[in-house]
Amino acid sequence: MLGQMQSQPLLISNLIVHADRHHHSTEIVSRRVEGDIHRTTWGQVAARARRVANALDSLHLSFGDRVGTLAWNGYRHLELYFGVSGSGRVLHTLNPRLHPEQLVWIVNHADDRALCFDMSFLPLVQAVHAKCPGVKHWIALCDADKLPADTGIPGLLSYEAWIGGATDTYTWPEFDENCASSMCYTSGTTGNPKGAVYSHRSTLLHAYGAALPDALGCSARDAILPVVPMFHVNAWGLPYSAAAVGCKLVFPGPALDGKSVYELIEGEQVTMAAGVPTVWQMLLGHMQQNGVKFSTLKRTVIGGSACPPAMIAAFNDQYGVEVLHAWGMTEMSPLGTVCTLKNAQVALPADEKMKVRLKQGRSVFGVDMKIVNELGEEQPWDGKAYGDLLVRGPWIIASYFKGEGGDPLQYDAAGRGWFPTGDVATIDADGFMQITDRSKDVIKSGGEWISSIDVENIAMAHPAVAMAACIGMKHPKWDERPIVVVVKKPGTEVTRDELLAFYEGKIAKWQVPDDVVFVDAIPLGATGKMQKMTLRQQLAGYKLPGL
Ligand code: AMP
Repeated sequence: MLGQMQSQPLLISNLIVHADRHHHSTEIVSRRVEGDIHRTTWGQVAARARRVANALDSLHLSFGDRVGTLAWNGYRHLELYFGVSGSGRVLHTLNPRLHPEQLVWIVNHADDRALCFDMSFLPLVQAVHAKCPGVKHWIALCDADKLPADTGIPGLLSYEAWIGGATDTYTWPEFDENCASSMCYTSGTTGNPKGAVYSHRSTLLHAYGAALPDALGCSARDAILPVVPMFHVNAWGLPYSAAAVGCKLVFPGPALDGKSVYELIEGEQVTMAAGVPTVWQMLLGHMQQNGVKFSTLKRTVIGGSACPPAMIAAFNDQYGVEVLHAWGMTEMSPLGTVCTLKNAQVALPADEKMKVRLKQGRSVFGVDMKIVNELGEEQPWDGKAYGDLLVRGPWIIASYFKGEGGDPLQYDAAGRGWFPTGDVATIDADGFMQITDRSKDVIKSGGEWISSIDVENIAMAHPAVAMAACIGMKHPKWDERPIVVVVKKPGTEVTRDELLAFYEGKIAKWQVPDDVVFVDAIPLGATGKMQKMTLRQQLAGYKLPGL
């Protein structure tokens, strides 16, 4: 017997139609590349998204054609999110921080037909456009009068003139919800980057899941600031969840320094913000230096890499802001887990609660997870046994674009496919998952594993440490031994021996790093994560003490 409910495909256009109808006058505020603050509403974004759809028709872009973006977080990027995907084309967000050659490779691999870019990326586009012959239309996200006369880019269009010439009357097409809506390439620290291709269905299910109270908890009463870029896994899906709940959105544009982010939070009465730890480091630094506080911010989502305890403590104890530690991946749309407490944990003493908050959290309904040993045998959920973390669910990839890398899934006895995350984790009896490491970053010393994240977190708790990276160095007896590479906070001092003494009593003796190397900077990748491979190359001539 079949259910007798209405059948309506889950499409991204449903989101913008809903936001337009039910949250028409709710504000969308953006700091623009032009430097000013721009204000619009969900109603206006919806109307301009319909213009985008008509303007794409006028360029004769077909259903499924890829439209690339090279843009910061802002209202025009948001209009493209809905106009491109809603009309059946595929939004391909590109990371402008990638090396130009890598960018060219990705644009060509994805077969992008049109590419929309912020004016701050004009020099980049000028340098690469000739190497992207498949891109037939280049569109600068600016007014017609801001377009320089001779850019050397054939047929360059101004976005405002382009959509200004189209009408805002448009009927969103209905099609199979499994059609591709958008795509994003993985950072590709080894080998070529691989494309994750999201569907309308996966995006809508993720939008529901992410908005849940025990996930990111988005509401119409929120003003959400996604500092995480819209080119990094769709700003963790927040633009979609925001349209579903009808909250105010605040976009930082290119200004991600502590002062600019703080001013935007206060000026726009932001209640929730989301970003990677490096961004919050800059924000906290600004606040501590200037002795300022938040007046409206209630919670901040921190993910993308492990959140140091010192950061959770600073937000919570000094500023009364709840940290939602979250974990996910490009291949997971990205949300997997969020660390929101259950009743049993709320009642714990502060130091016990902190231990829970450091975990990456519980799975959002829609994501199943398990840990397995090297034989693929499931490990117990006791908070101690660790193993490779595998996930499955409707917003997790089944394969990469063009089948690159073969079938990525591991199959269980029942034939169900699980995606191996490449992370090593524990899961406790309450279902809280904790990442111990990326499998390639785990340090293997004398047959035992040392978590580089644990070693880094302790260093980061020292008042003189701005950033710390723990890496394993070859050792003839122990196989590998950890060292910690440290950037000092400006104007502070700490010696090697003082920092090593700081580890005493905090972890087992054999887990304490063998050495401290002070550097001016730790290399960060295009999404703000520490690049340990590059760091290892930089330390190529390094020798462990006593060897
Ligand atoms: P990406 O696909 O570039 O977003 O990278 C995903 C990877 O980032 C994950 O597999 C983890 O290794 C890491 N990651 C993301 N969030 C966290 C977190 N909260 N703690 C530790 N690692 C994280």
